[in-house]
Amino acid sequence: MKERPIPISATTGKPSQRGKRLKSKDGLTWKQRNREAVNARRRELYASDPQKHLERASRYRQNARETVLAYNRKWSTEYRSRLRAEMIAAYGSKCKCCGERESLFLQLDHVDNDGHLDRKVHRTSNKLFVHLKRNGWPQDRYQLLCANCNFGKMLNGGICPHAKVQS
Ligand SMILES: [Zn+2]
Ligand SMILES: [Zn+2]
Repeated sequence: MKERPIPISATTGKPSQRGKRLKSKDGLTWKQRNREAVNARRRELYASDPQKHLERASRYRQNARETVLAYNRKWSTEYRSRLRAEMIAAYGSKCKCCGERESLFLQLDHVDNDGHLDRKVHRTSNKLFVHLKRNGWPQDRYQLLCANCNFGKMLNGGICPHAKVQS
């Protein structure tokens, strides 16, 4: 059988160590030990076709951007649902009027019907929840109502048609 010649490393000019999986003696990777040579080779490759490398870098940044954005979207969705769950627990986990416990039906109601003031300051319910959390979930101005009671209260001039809301 003909023996294959050992390839010469383009980076160091010495016989290639590729595929040998040598155990590191000094705890450094091959790249760390040959940093100068690696960098010199990188500069050489870059100089041979800068355009190609610039394009590759820009592609990489674009991909990284999408990865980061996807991560952030996922994180904020989870954060919103965690924050909402905390809010519901903090305000008693059920509709104050009819006792509905399904959290998807529950909404934060402004006891004094001054929600427009909060919306002006905090804009989204998420921002309002953040604000309330920072202030220890104040109980005086807010209560949980189910969508039904909340809507009924609004249409009925501030009192749920069930007529048990104390506001
Ligand atoms: Zn209700
Ligand atoms: Zn009600």
